[in-house]
Amino acid sequence: MTANNQVNQSRVIRVHPSDNVAIVVGQGGLPAGTRLDDGVVLGVDIPQGHKVALTDIGEGERIIRYNEVIGTALSAIARGGHVNENNVRLPIPPTLDELPLATREAPPVEPLEGYTFEGFRNPDGSVGTRNVLGITTSVQCVAGTVDHVVARIKRELLPRFPHVDDVVGLNHSYGCGVAIGAPAAIVPIRTLKNLARNPNFGGEVMVIGLGCEKLQPSTLIDDAPVKIFERSADALTHDETNDDANVLSLQHESFEGFGEMVEGIMEMAERHLERLNRRRRETCPVSELTVGMQCGGSDAFSGVTANPAVGFATDLIVRAGGSVMFSEVTEVRDAIHLLTPRAVDRQVGQALIDQMAWYDDYLAQGQADRSANPSPGNKKGGLSNIVEKALGSVIKSGNSPIVDVIGPGERLRKRGLTFAATPASDFICGTLQAAAGMNLQVFTTGRGTPYNLAMTPVIKVSTNSTLGRRWHDLIDLDAGRIATGEASIEDIGWELFELILEVASGRHQVAADRLGLYNDLVLFNPAPVT
Ligand code: CA
Repeated sequence: MTANNQVNQSRVIRVHPSDNVAIVVGQGGLPAGTRLDDGVVLGVDIPQGHKVALTDIGEGERIIRYNEVIGTALSAIARGGHVNENNVRLPIPPTLDELPLATREAPPVEPLEGYTFEGFRNPDGSVGTRNVLGITTSVQCVAGTVDHVVARIKRELLPRFPHVDDVVGLNHSYGCGVAIGAPAAIVPIRTLKNLARNPNFGGEVMVIGLGCEKLQPSTLIDDAPVKIFERSADALTHDETNDDANVLSLQHESFEGFGEMVEGIMEMAERHLERLNRRRRETCPVSELTVGMQCGGSDAFSGVTANPAVGFATDLIVRAGGSVMFSEVTEVRDAIHLLTPRAVDRQVGQALIDQMAWYDDYLAQGQADRSANPSPGNKKGGLSNIVEKALGSVIKSGNSPIVDVIGPGERLRKRGLTFAATPASDFICGTLQAAAGMNLQVFTTGRGTPYNLAMTPVIKVSTNSTLGRRWHDLIDLDAGRIATGEASIEDIGWELFELILEVASGRHQVAADRLGLYNDLVLFNPAPVT
């Protein structure tokens, strides 16, 4: 697309020449009677982001977007008609039995050199983009106490430790009344363990518990040496984590009243703050970046603007030797046939299929199916069904080979592009990517969300300029300029890449951080509660 500041309000976007639908670009949509460039005349008003039929589509005929079938027509749709969730039948998902595994020859890539950021190196080989004290909790009962202590630490201790950016209580709703021995309980437990090891916490783990909870605080302190990435096997490991001095239970008999509990936590925090305060940023190659990609509040532009630009940035990071995760199983499931060929080998391809199968089963147990996604807001934004949403979502993964697949709450093992299996829920996906070790997240949105995390920076990218303008103080980068023809996917992809380096270096504060907006962590617990 060429640079053009004159936005054509009658503009529509057809992604692929084979598509028989296109997306209305202009704010406010297009009224009935509008004649498009190729002679199609709109039969009805069509809202922004929604699909117009470019040909007559007979009942039962295929509706094609991204050169893929997104459904069949429930009834005849005339050329110029409005294609939406009411006249599109959901196709059958790709079967998991006969998918091509690792069949695509990896595209030739030139290494990208010379790009760096300023990060905090950790003893375990990981690199942080922030210097934060994380306070892990083993049960929800202590959340109020931890909030109380965090406020006091910010007031009384942080001013004495100027090189520490923040203190964050890792509160959650797990720990009490949970079936701790159920096989699926491994998911929330390893998530909590691995969250504490996020690179932005500098290896300083402290756990606050109550005392009588099923999930005992000591189980969150791992005695196994932690190694990040296969390549950093020589890196130092932290030997102080398996230490009773880093676990505190409020019910411990030595505490006389609330005041003493608080003092106990403050003393423990001070020891960790002293060590964190010695950390300094140093120049690190992009290969030390671990970026999580997510979308939320998607619309029909997601798949033509923000997500392709994110995919371009994904490929840049991978070319520079860095790590990128993409996630959100329910938004990958219907595009899985496009991903399994990209696996580096058959095992990785099979691991992708195994994660899809696990989730199919999980949804079936809850008597839900994939039509539970998209949300009403997604549909209002022009996304008719999960197939269309999935095709637009997986573009975030760019074109790189998929080197590994990790389960929910597991820690990243390899550099390059990894599929980190998570639900699509923004908060659960964010929490699980943080547990996997991301040190920065990129989040695309079409409908808009003030989503943000306290432990890692989140760069928010709008898919359309209407949102970008309306939410000027919440959005960090507007990819809607791709739809209007003002910028190309490559332009925005490079802008995002440069912004990632600025934010990772602490030189640029993201919009939601300036406003001090933070969402709670949400654990994924597929196991029973008792
Ligand atoms: Ca999401």
